[in-house]
Amino acid sequence: MAFKVLGVDHIGVAVNSIDEVGKFWNGILGIPHTMDDTVEEQKVTTGFFPTPNGAEIELLEATSDDSPIAKFIEKNGGRGGIQHVALRVDNIENAIADLLAKGVKMIDEKPRIGAGGSKIAFLHPKASHGVLVEICEHEDR
Ligand code: ZN
Repeated sequence: MAFKVLGVDHIGVAVNSIDEVGKFWNGILGIPHTMDDTVEEQKVTTGFFPTPNGAEIELLEATSDDSPIAKFIEKNGGRGGIQHVALRVDNIENAIADLLAKGVKMIDEKPRIGAGGSKIAFLHPKASHGVLVEICEHEDR
């Protein structure tokens, strides 16, 4: 069940307002703001800011107070910040099986559908030394 990490897919940044924070990433840095997508199951709206090498900045805004993003911001003193790092893998099912076989604790033992329709799974932050790591696989790239 080997798998390959293909690169950094995106950096997930928790924000209070995609509109407000997007003025920095798009307005000042010039990264295009291509779309927003709401994943109701995760109570989050994601704003996509893809850079030319393929890695994206994803701004994450809570859609309700019990969203993981709302909790992250609360713990962070009301401020946003980097919430997770996502690595693109060639085969997410193989990756999960391989990580579990290596004793890595997973938040998701099965892939779920994330923003933009990609398959995603989160590693437990204890396994990755305090960094919340997501692995993801896209159908189309
Ligand atoms: Zn993500």
